[in-house]
Amino acid sequence: MERESHLNTLTVNSPDGSSSRKHSGLSLITAPLSRAERTPEVAAVSGICGEGGESLKTLSDFPRTNLPLTAVAVLDDTPGDHTKAHLKSLRAYYLDYEATSPADEKTQSQKPTGKMCGSLALVGATGSGKRIAKRICCGREPCERCREQSHQRRIARVLPRLFQIDSMAYIVITWLVEVRPLMRNPKALALLGKRLRGLLRRRGYRKIYTRWHPFGDTPGVYHPHLNVICDGEYLEPEQLADLKNSIRCELLPRSMAKLYGKDLVIHYDYTQDAKRKMHWIKYVSKATFLEREWDEELASALYGFHNGCFAGTWNDTPKWRLTGTDKKFNALARLGEGLHPESGEPVTWDSKPLPWVLVKMENPVHIGGWWYTLPPIREPPGRCRSP
Ligand SMILES: [Zn+2]
Repeated sequence: MERESHLNTLTVNSPDGSSSRKHSGLSLITAPLSRAERTPEVAAVSGICGEGGESLKTLSDFPRTNLPLTAVAVLDDTPGDHTKAHLKSLRAYYLDYEATSPADEKTQSQKPTGKMCGSLALVGATGSGKRIAKRICCGREPCERCREQSHQRRIARVLPRLFQIDSMAYIVITWLVEVRPLMRNPKALALLGKRLRGLLRRRGYRKIYTRWHPFGDTPGVYHPHLNVICDGEYLEPEQLADLKNSIRCELLPRSMAKLYGKDLVIHYDYTQDAKRKMHWIKYVSKATFLEREWDEELASALYGFHNGCFAGTWNDTPKWRLTGTDKKFNALARLGEGLHPESGEPVTWDSKPLPWVLVKMENPVHIGGWWYTLPPIREPPGRCRSP
């Protein structure tokens, strides 16, 4: 279930027990990843400063995996053309890769129960008796059963906040092929995203949303790129160059850029057009890890990864509205905030999931994202008023 998805607590210690680092300015990378991030669904109503995350895992009765489960194994893939020194340097930069302790490795008990995605549903109701059902999805990107529905739910969850961005900037950051093997790890991705959000906050941006796409256009080729939606606008060429330069310095050691003679590729665009904003939101929230077979180990490592993350202040009024066929997302956005799509009343969900086949017998009407309206429960015959 989406409401209570917290990042597992990871304590990051250096291998030798010391906390000192040779690299300067890397405090964020080496900082303990112990904060529980909220889902946008929860944080969206509070409008406070801080960060919230969206979990790839949404099925309530699937126990959570600790992130570094296979992280070390993933990182042990040593690319042939790197010298040990370069690898060591990159590892020190991107993550404290020996962060797992035996206590973190809850394996069997935390693995999925094997229940089929979509076989259960939760039923909820408003104070006035309007009933809603949602089929529980696993939310994993490679899952074909719920891919489209999970995508719609992600859109629904981010919309209430992204509606607050008037002039919207879209930034895509792509890493050089040489360092991608070291990014096959959720911890590296989480830390890089956090560094970027921190940088943009320091530069004065007030609303920032980031989400990784692990794969790009070529099926099965790991191609991590960080998508950013923020409150940006037109920048003079010098300002844009300065922004790109600061991102590059923040996210790639200058020694690496020099060594490989390449740097991060950064795309920047901005708009005030509602259709374009929605196009970016749909694109950023889509799944790119389409086949588990592309990288089984990474798929396991990413289980429970909080991919979509917010930073900044989100208590403004909406600045734009959906147009045309995108209007159908208004109802979903309300549900994404825990409200009834028509009446706007808060929905209270039953804690116990029911088999979907039972809920299906009540003639549910699909609104989108595996959310359904249910007909009201009829009064028992004895209570009917006589004419
Ligand atoms: Zn699924």
